[in-house]
Amino acid sequence: MQTNSSILSTALHNFEQSAKRLKLDSGIRQKIGQPKERIEINISPVMPSGKLAHVRCFIVRHHDALGPAKGGIRMTADVNLDDITGLAMEMTWKTSLIGVPFGGGKSGIQLDPSTVTPQEKEIIIRGFTRGASRHIGPEIYIPAPDMGTNENDMAHIRDCVSYSEGTSITKGCYVTGKPVIIGGIVGRSQATGKGVVYTALAMCNKLDLDIADMKVAIQGFGNVGAITAAEFAKYGAKTIAIADITGGIANPKGLDIDALQKHVKTKGSVNGFAGGQPIEKEKIFEIDCDILVPAAAGSQITLENVKKIKTRFIAEGANAPTTPEADCVLAERKIPVIPDILCNAGGVFVSYLEYTQETQREQMTLAEVEGRLETRMKQRFEDVHKLAEQKKLTMRQAAMDLAVSRVVEAVFARGLYP
Ligand code: GLU
Repeated sequence: MQTNSSILSTALHNFEQSAKRLKLDSGIRQKIGQPKERIEINISPVMPSGKLAHVRCFIVRHHDALGPAKGGIRMTADVNLDDITGLAMEMTWKTSLIGVPFGGGKSGIQLDPSTVTPQEKEIIIRGFTRGASRHIGPEIYIPAPDMGTNENDMAHIRDCVSYSEGTSITKGCYVTGKPVIIGGIVGRSQATGKGVVYTALAMCNKLDLDIADMKVAIQGFGNVGAITAAEFAKYGAKTIAIADITGGIANPKGLDIDALQKHVKTKGSVNGFAGGQPIEKEKIFEIDCDILVPAAAGSQITLENVKKIKTRFIAEGANAPTTPEADCVLAERKIPVIPDILCNAGGVFVSYLEYTQETQREQMTLAEVEGRLETRMKQRFEDVHKLAEQKKLTMRQAAMDLAVSRVVEAVFARGLYP
């Protein structure tokens, strides 16, 4: 597959390398290396101004041997079908590795969410839901939040589906990451950040490091970055630098994360925060730290900046933050990486609990959700770490090999069809 998308080329590269190591034949390689379905949907909802908004939307179902496609909705100004294809592919491996009965999917809405009012965003989300209705459902594709979307948007999707049926509930789970009040699950919004920290704790154990001595640098202060920083603080680790899309802030004594969250809520970004010194946002990858967490966009650790990284290990909170070339340099420099499909899988794991809860009309407590999340993240970390040690692989290679093997196994278990 030819592409200009760095996210898709990273996903393809990681898959091809794994397919080679696993000696997959070309038939199965093609079958699971290509998306099953790539859809572009153009919507033109009427905005409060009376004008039509023309918005391009995308849905990709990459693979579903293990279950219906699962993955978030990315809303950014420049998201495109190839990025969504790469992210959907990554979801196939993520759901497989974390062991939930889903395949991989993703959707995209090509719009900068900061340019619209909450009312306009709701209209666009509802337009997307109607336009995509044939492609969304508990047995087809179940969306969730991703960059640029949040639980309010998931609430509108849920309402749009049930409203069309003339009921207040849906038959099964159509979307995860909803507010708890309308069928969401407690702990979902913290799940990705918590999962990042559980895997980082497991890595500290392996490297014989005390979490309370760790200095952390984080790129991104959205849902994943902010929760990760707050969770690290609970274990005594200090977040000494954070960058977002507008700038960066550093404090060698540790940033006050609560205060920073309040600042970001009112000011919209980390810029101007009194509890630290401003830094250029690109310098986040040059900070002398113990744990580096890219928790923003894709393709951020590149050949340009990888040599300047000074950290003991990297925990990939974002999807596809490291280009394949930079990944090789990290391996040469012996900087371990907890790969995205493991590190940030806490979100989709708790989405699975939400799906189960809604399907069974059950209610789970926060203690149950967090207990299951912690156990699963640590188990999978162990599995990946063990294979990496045994076969002298990087953690990314080991994670990919485990994930791809499970999908292959499911394809063969199903037999000839589909
Ligand atoms: N967007 C998140 C991810 O990339 C969550 C997906 C989900 O919960 O379905 O993993």
